[in-house]
Amino acid sequence: MDNQLTIALSKGRIYKDTLPLLEAADILPLEDPSKSRKLIIPTNQENVRLLIVRATDAPTYVSHGAADIGVAGKDVLMEAPLDNLYELLDLQIAKCRLMVAGPETPKPHGHRLKIATKYINSAKAYYAQKGEQVDLIKLYGSMEIAPLIDLADKIVDLVDTGNTLRANGLVPEEHIANISSRLIVNEHAYKTKFNQINEIVEKFQTAISNT
Ligand code: AMP
Repeated sequence: MDNQLTIALSKGRIYKDTLPLLEAADILPLEDPSKSRKLIIPTNQENVRLLIVRATDAPTYVSHGAADIGVAGKDVLMEAPLDNLYELLDLQIAKCRLMVAGPETPKPHGHRLKIATKYINSAKAYYAQKGEQVDLIKLYGSMEIAPLIDLADKIVDLVDTGNTLRANGLVPEEHIANISSRLIVNEHAYKTKFNQINEIVEKFQTAISNT
């Protein structure tokens, strides 16, 4: 039986915050992805490897079974829900909020509210539930600029400390959802590699409840 276990996760905040959980499960990466250009990182366990992927791609790898498990932000999972995966654990890391934010002093406008965001589906669902019709403008980053140069009236974005908003003269206005990273598992792998995956889940769980 194939007992190779592949874990998809992204560099940066998610990797840094997942590392202590991996250590608790006795999984020690043999290279540091922030220093290495390697995208497949071996670990101290011969049959466990890490795939270093874009944060938005982690669910895709897990959904297709190219990775058995992975770590993905709830923002990514909400924005593009995929089949064939379970969301098993709230890892309580990379916590932030998905919020509507706008200029401290809103400018009067005679049109439907224009919202710039990377999170088109989440924003659409939020305004539909409010019964408010808005025009959504897709951006891939630096959303905070949009209200400053009249591309949009407001933005929907992740807010952690609020420093980025403040630095750009924006204020948080409406809370859409609490966000944190989740452990996701391919449905098929969860059946065929249950013991291997469950051991990791239990060790992660213990480490989370001890923090
Ligand atoms: P802050 O200035 O601390 O409020 O952080 C806001 C900036 O960091 C925005 O550009 C967000 O898109 C990004 N950000 C904050 N928290 C997260 C997170 N948990 N995951 C990904 N991006 C985040």
